[in-house]
Amino acid sequence: MHEISLVQGLLQQLHDLAAEHRTARVTKVTMVVGPLSGVVVESFQFGFDILTREDDLVRGAELEIVIPEVSYRCSGCGAVEKTAGQRPRKCSGCGDPILIAEQGMGGDVILQQVEMED
Ligand SMILES: [Zn+2]
Repeated sequence: MHEISLVQGLLQQLHDLAAEHRTARVTKVTMVVGPLSGVVVESFQFGFDILTREDDLVRGAELEIVIPEVSYRCSGCGAVEKTAGQRPRKCSGCGDPILIAEQGMGGDVILQQVEMED
């Protein structure tokens, strides 16, 4: 599962951060998961729950997932639709099925914030 390796990468990042800050506990992790990244949020949460159970640094830490909005521009009429959910199947204005995702964090998975204990 793709999400498991993402969580493994995240844990590595957290260990590096914890070493830098000389902390032994991570209490909360905030991730930005773009709706175009292909990451299934439920699977990511599941992987996080499983892997953090085995890890003293992050055991019991809260995971918050933020899904940013992505703008889609219609190639037919130029209308823009914004959504944090599924890519719209067609333009709600003219019905054109070709919608182009605009800039933003749509395809990215980013570690946004980490809360640690002193
Ligand atoms: Zn349109």
